[in-house]
Amino acid sequence: MNAKDILEQLVSFPSVVGTPNGDIVAWVKTYLESHGATVTVLPGPEGDRANLFASIGPKDQSGYILSGHMDVVSASERTWTSDPFRLRAEGDRLFGRGASDMKGFLAAVLAGLPAIAKMPLRHPIHFAFSYDEEAGCRGVPHMLQQIGNLCAPPLGAIIGEPSSMVAIRGHKGKAAARIEIQGATGHSSRPDKGLNAIHAMTAVMSATLETVDALRNSDLDRNFEPPYSTLQIGTITGGRSVNIIPNLCIMELEARAVPGVSPTVLLEHIKATAEALANDGFRVTWEISSTYPALSLNADTPLARLMEELTSAQSLAAVSYGTEAGLYQAAGIDAIICGPGDISRAHRADEFIRLDELAACEEMILRLAKTLQR
Ligand SMILES: [Zn+2]
Repeated sequence: MNAKDILEQLVSFPSVVGTPNGDIVAWVKTYLESHGATVTVLPGPEGDRANLFASIGPKDQSGYILSGHMDVVSASERTWTSDPFRLRAEGDRLFGRGASDMKGFLAAVLAGLPAIAKMPLRHPIHFAFSYDEEAGCRGVPHMLQQIGNLCAPPLGAIIGEPSSMVAIRGHKGKAAARIEIQGATGHSSRPDKGLNAIHAMTAVMSATLETVDALRNSDLDRNFEPPYSTLQIGTITGGRSVNIIPNLCIMELEARAVPGVSPTVLLEHIKATAEALANDGFRVTWEISSTYPALSLNADTPLARLMEELTSAQSLAAVSYGTEAGLYQAAGIDAIICGPGDISRAHRADEFIRLDELAACEEMILRLAKTLQR
């Protein structure tokens, strides 16, 4: 099977984030094992979805991890030209959900496996495929907890998010929070008898905007656009009717932090403001729904130099999107982003990848394997 054939299989699994993924895991496992890789399926605490870790080459040696996520965002856009879960070729473009983000990377990596399996490898190559990345990297932490049992301390991890095959050394960290305020309902003519949850939330919103302003002037990192940590309220819901005191208001916000800044610390002033509402009789729930740290890999690390050699291109300091790379780095594993396709095609209708992009990625993986030969 070539990369296109494999991508066709992978796209046919509607492995939408937040749903069970047994089908795609089973297919990938069978493929990997048929080419001599040892595979461990690592079920997550949800019970119906799993990460997958596989290795080829000597187990007792340190090797490189090729990391990708098996989940995709939903394909609910109405403007898809064809079935998003059926790979469609048009010229040199292959259309389908996940083609760029990031089943294309998985397909290129898997297509390279038969050739790699024949090489006398001195160091192993590992395949770390995760679930629910699109929900804020929920799957991969469970795999990283096990990494000490799965392989010798890795030399580095390549995260194949679409980067046009340029190695990327940094991204911001993120934390998403959900705040629920419960008050007491009643007729709008007697606001004195209820507890208006929307009114209460305005204090939390004000605290958010204060933090937004403060961040503009702190912790500048010129590698990023914008060069500072940011925060935004993404959703707010509450109230049923104009003449009823709303007893529930829910808000979601996220922080994006430059390297060296903890994204959850950015939320502390807001959290304290929300929790103080309990003094006025409100019930407040604060939940961090997802979080991952920033990535920052120095240009002179062996991994960054290796990737420049493999891609014949200079590495870039930073991208604006987040990935699992920050979690690998936090787990003590050097990590870098490099994958086929363009992030601008992700999360939209008619997502595609080009055949030459798949070929370039497969070539990079084979070059990596060649550096690990005896
Ligand atoms: Zn992705």
